[in-house]
Amino acid sequence: MAMTCNAASTMKRALRVIQHRGQESAGVAVFDGRIKSLKGMGLVHEVLCGREFDMLSGNVGIGHVRYSTTGTSSPENSQPIVVSTSAGELALGHNGDIVNADKIRMKLQSEGWAFLTSTDSEIIVRLLANELTQTTDAVRAIKNTMRVLDGAYSLTVMIGGRVFGIRDPLGFRPLCIGKLQNGYAIASESAVFDILRGEFIRDVAPGEIVEITPGGFTSSRVPSPLHSAHCMFEWVYFARPDSIVDGKEVYELRKNIGRKLAEEQPVDADVIVAVPDSGRGHALGFSEKSGIKYEEGFMKNRYVERTFILPEQNKRDEGVLLKLNPIKSTVAGKRVVIVDDSIVRGTTMRKIVEMVRRAGAKEVHVRIGCPPVRAPCYYGIDMKTREQFAATNRTVEQIAKMITADSLGYTSVKGLVEALEISENDLCLACLTGEYPSNVPGEKTRYQQTLEAHI
Ligand code: AMP
Repeated sequence: MAMTCNAASTMKRALRVIQHRGQESAGVAVFDGRIKSLKGMGLVHEVLCGREFDMLSGNVGIGHVRYSTTGTSSPENSQPIVVSTSAGELALGHNGDIVNADKIRMKLQSEGWAFLTSTDSEIIVRLLANELTQTTDAVRAIKNTMRVLDGAYSLTVMIGGRVFGIRDPLGFRPLCIGKLQNGYAIASESAVFDILRGEFIRDVAPGEIVEITPGGFTSSRVPSPLHSAHCMFEWVYFARPDSIVDGKEVYELRKNIGRKLAEEQPVDADVIVAVPDSGRGHALGFSEKSGIKYEEGFMKNRYVERTFILPEQNKRDEGVLLKLNPIKSTVAGKRVVIVDDSIVRGTTMRKIVEMVRRAGAKEVHVRIGCPPVRAPCYYGIDMKTREQFAATNRTVEQIAKMITADSLGYTSVKGLVEALEISENDLCLACLTGEYPSNVPGEKTRYQQTLEAHI
């Protein structure tokens, strides 16, 4: 995120609002004649504190929370990345994944460039720094950099004291503009503006470069393809339910998906429970459409870390047990439907089905808002290899058996698209269909964009 107004403390609050988007590292860079930054491993309130934080003055800045997809989870990969060039200082925060990062890195290394980190984000910052040494026109330097990049990137960039928000031409990851009480801001999610008592203005368009100015913002564009590729998983799982992503409130769409799921995968049961928190909207929609009552089914321990990103299977199992416990009066003696947003590896759901049975459920049915995840994501969600997916080489019945459920049902891809009320051509559904909206080496392209369209 980026903003102009007593930057460090406002950004700390704002970053806490989007903490769910990344919990590995956090950081801010502010401009006060020169760029100063503070970043490190941990949650926002753990990193942005103490004397060093209090010393960060300036009313222009950018901030970042990291969830690693490319590059290891380590201190040197935390962001914003700050570099110094002959043209001045530059800071950058990146959300997404650059598909052609390895190719660019190899080419640049062969030309004698050196890299400090394993991230694709460093490649962007180095390309941009190089462009800035060739032209004094910052927007032109940004456009020239965008021309080389392929893949997903929502960026905040600070060039000296100028702040920009940039979205890739296919608009994979969200980015939006808001007005605060004494300035403007750009953030991944609109909930930030609510909490800062500001106002959501609009989404940054795919291919748009927005510069925040003291009185507002200016906008320019790079030519973009006719269709976008908004990641469906933002609405299904990733974004906060109270955010508006590309004009659609996340909570409303989750309920829509739940209604569609109930239509497509009906079940005879006594009670619907949601896997908190991201399953709640889906479950409420399912309950509304099916007429089966919704109840709180689990106590969630909010102090336990995310189990999805734990590296070892036994730690993930342990993590799920620590995190969730069924409410016995809800499930005992009942035919229970557990609704969640997604199954990736199936680890979480197998443990949940087991615990609900142990709590006395008579039958356990599982309904999932997201269609089966079958193909890797190259655009910023950490789902990288086919072998890890429960749906690889398994039928739905086999997955049901694997998670020990009495029945299992997913929303269809067609049903999901209808529920999102967005044209299929403007969505990225690659992890569901295996057809990618941009050229990914070794994968099938959904529709061939003309090369000129990217320039
Ligand atoms: P799994 O155990 O791999 O099937 O994980 C699925 C669970 O993790 C679901 O409850 C989702 O809410 C959550 N989840 C799905 N995708 C992700 C992701 N990329 N990062 C973190 N959590 C996720």
